[in-house]
Amino acid sequence: MRTVTKMFGRLAVCLFVLLWLPGSGFAAVSGITPFVMDAMKVLKLEKGAEDLGVLTNARYVRLGGKTTEQYVPVLEALTACSIAKGNLLFFNERPEESLLVALANRKTMQAVVIRYDGSQGKSKFLSLKDSDIQDPEFFWNATLGAAGKETFHIVSILSAWFANTPYDFRQCAELHGHLCPGILFGYFTVKGLLQKYPLLPGEEYIFIASPNECKDDAFQVLLGLTPGKRNLIVKPVNKKQIKTNTEMLLSGIILKWSRSKQQGLGIVVGIDSDAIQKVTKVNQQTPRNMKILAVRKLLDHLDDSADFFTAEREFPLSKALKEQLMQAGTNPYVLLGMMPAATSPKTEGEQR
Ligand SMILES: [Zn+2]
Repeated sequence: MRTVTKMFGRLAVCLFVLLWLPGSGFAAVSGITPFVMDAMKVLKLEKGAEDLGVLTNARYVRLGGKTTEQYVPVLEALTACSIAKGNLLFFNERPEESLLVALANRKTMQAVVIRYDGSQGKSKFLSLKDSDIQDPEFFWNATLGAAGKETFHIVSILSAWFANTPYDFRQCAELHGHLCPGILFGYFTVKGLLQKYPLLPGEEYIFIASPNECKDDAFQVLLGLTPGKRNLIVKPVNKKQIKTNTEMLLSGIILKWSRSKQQGLGIVVGIDSDAIQKVTKVNQQTPRNMKILAVRKLLDHLDDSADFFTAEREFPLSKALKEQLMQAGTNPYVLLGMMPAATSPKTEGEQR
């Protein structure tokens, strides 16, 4: 009886794909079906299983010059995963990259990654327990298979799903394309800011992202700030241009601005590196596999974001100072008297 039900189920999915996609490259789209079905078999999960999750870059990449949003309803029909259930996740990639779909079993922390080009595909099984990732060869082996250079993207974002993190946190990783310490620092900073410096009626946030790093994408997602709206000002500075007296990791400068009053409050914000070090040992030299484990430790602390938030300095904000701080070519930390005038405006584009 169960086999008959299963057969009907698969037939319904095939019919759905056939009927639903007239003239939209249906052969290409439906061609991913056997890979998805096989992956579910390998993971020992059926459609609708509680522990089943899907992560994909569909919607972002293009196949054969076509956008890939048509793959989303196919994946939903095959797995019964959805955004609303929190088990259909996306990650942003450049349009020219390949289509990737990772199916995962949250209970066993296993995944099958499918790389699909519109007609051909290949799969790779990955076991993602801490003990597997600790193996220094883990990334080397994983990148040789279907996960390829996106191994870090997939493993890190699936880690966020395994840890049952909030939707807005996973949105930060989606926009950024992977989950790294920088995204965590951005999340901690914004959540701490919202708690300690909430907007009063008529106020708005403007963020000067300086240095500009991974964290800035969390500001875009969580505060709705964008460079296009001119409320996210990106100012690259190098290490020599941002030395401070404390061990904090600077995120940038928040301008809490009242349009009606034409004045506000400026706050130099960042992350307390001592608090981070207490939880983990991340630094620039941390190898990729250990970085994932450090990220996993920090995921348990999302509710304590304010504990990692630091306000290095507050200052009254006039219209003239606001404009100066936002202006191109000025080091905001020099303007605020936190740094001597820089001799060279050269940047290094460093990342955390
Ligand atoms: Zn990053």
